[in-house]
Amino acid sequence: MSEAHIRLLSTKTRCPACEAARVPAHDLATFSATTAEFECSAAFCVSNDAIIVSVPCPARSLLAAKLMTIGAGGS
Ligand SMILES: [Zn+2]
Repeated sequence: MSEAHIRLLSTKTRCPACEAARVPAHDLATFSATTAEFECSAAFCVSNDAIIVSVPCPARSLLAAKLMTIGAGGS
């Protein structure tokens, strides 16, 4: 199944969590085929038979912080 995971990951041009654009692939073809990095700083990779998170997308945390600030009466 690893090839299917690599194929799927290689088609992702936007962060699956927040839609941020993908960062251009690394020079090494094998590295770029199994790793996807996005402008939000999220990164995913294929490890064994799964797509795993190497860096979680921070979008929801940023939104949560903003909402807490608003909730506390800030802007
Ligand atoms: Zn993201």
